[in-house]
Amino acid sequence: MKLKDLEFKKFIPSDRIEKKVASLAHQINADYEDRTPIFLPVLNGSFMFASDLLKEITIPCRVSFVKISSYAGGTTSTGQLKTLIGHDESLFGLDIIIIEDIVDSGLTLEKLVEDLKNRGAKSVEAVSLLRKQVAREKNIQVKYVGFELEDEFVLGYGLDYDGLGRNLKDIYKQSSPGNSGN
Ligand code: 5GP
Repeated sequence: MKLKDLEFKKFIPSDRIEKKVASLAHQINADYEDRTPIFLPVLNGSFMFASDLLKEITIPCRVSFVKISSYAGGTTSTGQLKTLIGHDESLFGLDIIIIEDIVDSGLTLEKLVEDLKNRGAKSVEAVSLLRKQVAREKNIQVKYVGFELEDEFVLGYGLDYDGLGRNLKDIYKQSSPGNSGN
């Protein structure tokens, strides 16, 4: 499949994603049995994952979306952080579960966790569908991880390449080098 200048091939089919999402939800339901957590899906990339995951959550919970990004477009992280947008509710004393699509350098997640702790959250954990090698090496704490990746660029199931591909139900990975830095 070609999107703009890059070729992508199917990597994780939707049936595998579906099973993984159900198993992540199952763990969360068990771990938070006696609590009422608030889920914070990080837009835009986690919208599809968050929607499927939350349908499998059976404990009482709240949901509130946030937006923060370290990607300026293209396939490499710029490391530049924008600030957290759109969260003015009080998080004091709450058990927070961040929903991420992918943890790469971990900068986005680290910043968000720090921010939420500063706002008085009782506990902050994260669930990410995907985690890259860099985050594992840096020992970025992600309590629930769906699939571990090497350092490869992926799209689909909410993840985009320059705004394209978020609608795809499978996850694809880049199969040819482009001129975008990867
Ligand atoms: P980090 O701050 O961990 O380096 O980057 C996290 C964010 O970068 C993710 O939420 C996602 O939006 C974006 N990102 C990181 N790796 C990829 C990738 O392989 N594909 C896409 N489409 N986005 C990525």
